[in-house]
Amino acid sequence: MADAVTMDKIVSLCRRRGFVFPSSEIYGGLGSSYDYGHYGVLLKENVKARWLEAMVQEREDIVALDSSIILHSAVWEASGHVGGFTDPLVDCRACKLRFRADHLDAAQCGNRPSKKPGETPDCDLTEARHFNLMFETRVGPVEESGSRVYLRPETAQGIFINFKNVAQLARRKPPFGIAQVGKSFRNEITPGNFIFRTLEFEQMEMEFFVPPADADDWYRYWIDERRDWYLRLGIRESHLRIRPHDTDELSHYSTATSDIEYLYPIGWSELEGIANRGAYDLTAHTEASGTRLEWVDSQSGERYTPYVIEPAAGLNRSMLAFLCDAYDEEIVAERERTVLRLHPQIAPVKAAVLPLIARDAEMVARARRLYEELRRFAAVEYDDNSQIGRRYRRQDEIGTPFAFTIDEQTLEDDTVTIRDRDSLAQERISIARAREHLLDRLAAPWLTPKTD
Ligand code: ATP
Repeated sequence: MADAVTMDKIVSLCRRRGFVFPSSEIYGGLGSSYDYGHYGVLLKENVKARWLEAMVQEREDIVALDSSIILHSAVWEASGHVGGFTDPLVDCRACKLRFRADHLDAAQCGNRPSKKPGETPDCDLTEARHFNLMFETRVGPVEESGSRVYLRPETAQGIFINFKNVAQLARRKPPFGIAQVGKSFRNEITPGNFIFRTLEFEQMEMEFFVPPADADDWYRYWIDERRDWYLRLGIRESHLRIRPHDTDELSHYSTATSDIEYLYPIGWSELEGIANRGAYDLTAHTEASGTRLEWVDSQSGERYTPYVIEPAAGLNRSMLAFLCDAYDEEIVAERERTVLRLHPQIAPVKAAVLPLIARDAEMVARARRLYEELRRFAAVEYDDNSQIGRRYRRQDEIGTPFAFTIDEQTLEDDTVTIRDRDSLAQERISIARAREHLLDRLAAPWLTPKTD
C-alpha cells in the first residue's frame, strides 16, 4: 500500500494531539518557531536518550559535555563562522520572495503559474549576496565594543575549545570522542517545512578525535554506525540513503562530508551530516588562543593535532523523520484508523491502562492500582474517558505500543488483556506479570510492520 503520509497530515496530527504547535500563537505566531507539547517533549527526550545511550553509555571511548550557548566571540572568529558562515541570498524584486541561491532548483516562484525562481518572464532576481546566519546579541546593558556575542550556530565549537580540559580530565587518548546535545540558532533565509528547518533547534553532535592516519577509516566507520542507529530505531531502509558531498559543496572546514538523508514527504533531505573536519578547528583555535590544542603522549613525548570526525544530527529533524516513518492509516472493522508505528523505545507513552467500563468502581480501582505500579518503571497513561474504542484510537494516534485493559474477567481471575498497537492482537496475561511483560516487550528488537 502506498505510504499515506504527507507533511500536512503530520502537522495536523502534531497539533491535534499536542506534540508540536506554532510558537507565540496568540500574537499571530513567529515564522518557523515551534513549541513542543507534552507528547512532543516525551518523544524528543526519548530520541535524545537513545542517542546518548548509543554514543556515551554503551561506549568507553566517548564522554559527555554541556558547553555554553553564548561563548566568547573570539571563538566564532577563529572558527571561521564570523567570516564564512553565510548562505547566498537572492531576492526577487517582482514577487518580493527571498531564496537561497543554492536551493533555487527546489524553490517555487511567487507568481502563478508556479515555476522555479527566474523562470517566468516577470522574475527579477538580484545577484546573490552573502548573509551571515548567526544571531547577534550583546552582553551587558550598554552597547560598546567587545560586548557583541553570538548565539551558537552549532554545538561543535564548545567541544573544540574544551579539548584540552576534557582530554586531561577524562584521561582519554585518541581515538576518543566528546558528545553534546543542545540548542543551536540560525537566522535561516528560507526556513519552513514545519520543524525541518527552524530558527532554533537542537543538535546531537559528537566530535571524534583520531590520529590523522586513521581519519578515513573512522569517517567510514561513523557513517555506518549512524545509519545503523536509525535502522535500529525502526526507520525503513528504503527511506534512508547516504549522499557524499561534491567537493564544491564542502563546508570551509571539511575535507569530506556525507549526509544521511531521509525520504521526507518533501523529498530526500539531510537528516545528519558526517564530516571529516581534519585538524581545521583545533589548529584554528590553537593559533587564535595561543593554547596548544594537541595530543601529547606523556610516555613517548609524541605530539600531534588530532583529526576530527563529526557525526552531527538534528534532534528535531530526526523526530520529524521518526514521525513521518511511523505515520500510517488503515481500515479496521470498516473504520479508518490513524496510527503512529513508532519504535516502542521512542514512543512517548509506552502503555495505556484502561478500565473497560469507566463507571465500574472495582474496574477503576484495579486499573488505577496497575497504573500506579507501572508508572514507576515506564511512561504510562491512565484513561477512563469515553468509550473504549475511542480511547484505543487516541493511543494509536500518539503511538502507544501497548494497552492493558481491565474488564469483568479481571475481577474474577486477576488477568488483563494486553493489546498490541500494530497487530491489534490481544493476549490475556496475569496482572501480576504485567510489569515484567511490559518491560520485556519494550526491550525486545522491533521491526516496523510498514511495508514500502
Ligand atoms: P542544511 O544544509 O539543511 O541547512 P546543514 O548542512 O547546514 O543543514 P549542519 O551544519 O551539518 O547542517 O548541522 C547538522 C544537523 O543539524 C543537520 O543535519 C540538521 O539535522 C540539523 N539542522 C541544521 N540546521 C537546522 C535548522 N535550521 N533547523 C533544524 N535542524 C537543523
